[in-house]
Amino acid sequence: MLNKKSVDDINVKGKKVLVRCDFNVPLKDGKITDENRLVAALPTIKKLIADGGRVILCSHLGKPKGEPKPELSLAPVAKRLSELLGQEVKFAADPEVVGPNARAAAEAMKDGEVILLENTRYRAEETKNGEAFSKELASLCDVFVNDAFGTAHRAHCSNVGVTQFVDTSVVGYLMQKEIDFLGNAVDNPVRPFVAILGGAKVADKLNVIANLLEKCDTLIIGGGMAYTFLKAKGYEVGTSLVDDEKIGYCKEMMEKAEKLGKKLLLPVDTTIASAFPNPIDAQIEVSVVDSDKIPADMMGLDIGPKTAELYADAAKTAKTVVWNGPMGVFENPILAKGTIAVAKALAETDATTIIGGGDSAAAVNQLGFGDKMSHISTGGGASLEFLEGKELPGVAAANDK
Ligand code: AMP
Repeated sequence: MLNKKSVDDINVKGKKVLVRCDFNVPLKDGKITDENRLVAALPTIKKLIADGGRVILCSHLGKPKGEPKPELSLAPVAKRLSELLGQEVKFAADPEVVGPNARAAAEAMKDGEVILLENTRYRAEETKNGEAFSKELASLCDVFVNDAFGTAHRAHCSNVGVTQFVDTSVVGYLMQKEIDFLGNAVDNPVRPFVAILGGAKVADKLNVIANLLEKCDTLIIGGGMAYTFLKAKGYEVGTSLVDDEKIGYCKEMMEKAEKLGKKLLLPVDTTIASAFPNPIDAQIEVSVVDSDKIPADMMGLDIGPKTAELYADAAKTAKTVVWNGPMGVFENPILAKGTIAVAKALAETDATTIIGGGDSAAAVNQLGFGDKMSHISTGGGASLEFLEGKELPGVAAANDK
């Protein structure tokens, strides 16, 4: 359990509360195309409003690289949040984030009112955790709440630096929920505990593989990273994505699994094509072969149907499942079958199902299985670092209980 003070441990009546949220939502033509992160932030905001806090929200959006970029303004978020909360969220449109608008709005606020600051990454110091901007943020508030799980793996001004200049720093409900779900799964799982990893490269997930292998009962590998494992087994993998430098690592992991008595499942069959689809959702011709029969001039782009069944069965017998990373090039409907099969199996199981953020979360939501999962993380990078067993600086910076 998270040993950090939360919004339940403080009295915010009449106090200015700076809340770091993760409002990093996808935008198209100024419209929010996925508002899950906004909805996930509501419980903490509503609690602070109900308790009579003066709520000052902040977040980053995209990568403006330290300068104002109108297309990455948080203005559309203020508008949508006002609708979701049923009360005005006043937008403080300062290009320097903490500027005259923000200061005046913070001074004029009444209990239960809400304002939103401009994109914190309009300031170059934000991602460097610089002292000056941290102090400016702190000067707006009496209390700091960090509810941005999606950036918890980064030490920036708005989630770490600011805590050095306020007396009280606590976590919000979303942060608490994320850490409770992921932490319980990894450190105290109801067994059998099945971890499913996919995505592009082995190199990106080395520590996740090693850490989860220690904690889980069955580790399932799919996606592009499976082919480095298959090559490590001595199979021909054709032109599939392979990390030649990591073949030794994959061998080590397979030996480790054996030694620990853990099951490590690799694809038994695979969907192949002559080349990577271009554009990614192009109509392509595919066939299915056993994993040890990939022709030298073909590329594996999804798990095959036998593998999908094998993985779905493993997921169905589990009591806890953690999933991060697609099973194939799911952006192409022809190559999304493996990812869909796994998502469906997770939707149908009674197990506690936890979806790491990023592509797997997007896939599950797009397929309409979102409400069938126990928890869908709002943070891809953060959940991966948590699954690696790393301490998240954004969480560490909050006051201990
Ligand atoms: P990641 O960001 O590591 O989770 O990887 C996600 C990406 O991996 C997606 O864009 C997929 O298209 C890609 N991917 C999944 N399977 C394969 C594969 N067999 N070959 C190449 N790329 C893949």
